[in-house]
Amino acid sequence: MIKFLDLQKINLQYQNEIEAKLIEVFRSGWYLMGVQLSNFEKNLSEYIGVKNAIGVANGLDALRLILRAYMELGIMSEGDEIIVPSNTYIASILAISDNGLIPVLVEPEINTYNIDISKIEEKITPKTKGILIVHLQGRIIFSDQLREIASKHSLKIIEDNAQAIGAAWSGIKSGNLGDASGFSFYPGKNLGALGDAGAVTTNDDELAKTIRALANYGSNQKYVNIYKGLNSRLDEIQAAVLDVKLKYIDNENAIRKQIAKRFIDEIKNPAVILPEYPADENEHVWHVFVIRSEKRDELQDYLTEKGIQTLIHYPIPPHRQEAYKEWKDLSFPISEKIHAEVLSLPISPVMTEEEILNIIETVNTF
Ligand SMILES: *Cc1c(COP(=O)(O)O)cnc(C)c1O
Repeated sequence: MIKFLDLQKINLQYQNEIEAKLIEVFRSGWYLMGVQLSNFEKNLSEYIGVKNAIGVANGLDALRLILRAYMELGIMSEGDEIIVPSNTYIASILAISDNGLIPVLVEPEINTYNIDISKIEEKITPKTKGILIVHLQGRIIFSDQLREIASKHSLKIIEDNAQAIGAAWSGIKSGNLGDASGFSFYPGKNLGALGDAGAVTTNDDELAKTIRALANYGSNQKYVNIYKGLNSRLDEIQAAVLDVKLKYIDNENAIRKQIAKRFIDEIKNPAVILPEYPADENEHVWHVFVIRSEKRDELQDYLTEKGIQTLIHYPIPPHRQEAYKEWKDLSFPISEKIHAEVLSLPISPVMTEEEILNIIETVNTF
């Protein structure tokens, strides 16, 4: 069987280095807020090209903490609106509503699956305070027009960079395009830990300081609490593992690009719509390779039968989730079409030539 993602194989590429780090942390007797975290934060900020990187417990917390910090700084307040794509992973939206902010959904573009920038301005009201862009599937969404809209209406641009670490727009890496960015290092992400992990990046020192405090019980100084904070730490073991794997992320992303290009060049089936390979290939790191078909469910069954594991990112649009039943009468036809037709094929830095060919031939014979 071809697994959707073989995490064991991905991590065993670095077995010696990772195991040495695990032993080092274990024997050190120091498990939180230590040298592994500060090294990783320094290396991540250098890699992204940004002033501050703050390790946190997971990607959802990274986004929650950014918005919460803007609230503590008086830049946002309860009931304010944040624009977000209508087809994103639920975590982007949870981060907004968890803070008492209102998610305002905007449809994506069907060709890129990313938010349609031309539809943002019509959703802006006096209560709008930010745009949460999501570099979905590993593809950057950014433009000068987006920047102009944000500056014209004094909106913060927050990046959900859970899926696109290593991608770049005009030479600027994702995580350094907006005012602040949330990363997830969930094991299945392009840079994956051995458990939950996340980070925030920002050039805004005051925001960084506020997030550091909020993630540490609202405290910059032990037992002195300035905010009603939370506990959201990136532990030493995860930081050490991530610091090893960060060195290889460009190489892994390059392999993903090669595979995506092969799929796009060699999959030829009129029942299948392939993703667009961006004119600037730096803009996409292919976290997932998503095809679309009106016969999606049949295609998935066929691939399963032939031993190819696929997933659907995502089966239910956010406005159709029980958790957001207040949105059940809203209509987002592009999102609904996407959710009904998308299928993610296996793509990973450890796939063999035989597996790649097998996937191409099997999709072609459907
Ligand atoms: C994975 C993901 C998150 C959440 O990250 P966790 O580390 O699982 O909390 C947020 N947004 C997007 C787009 C994601 O893919």
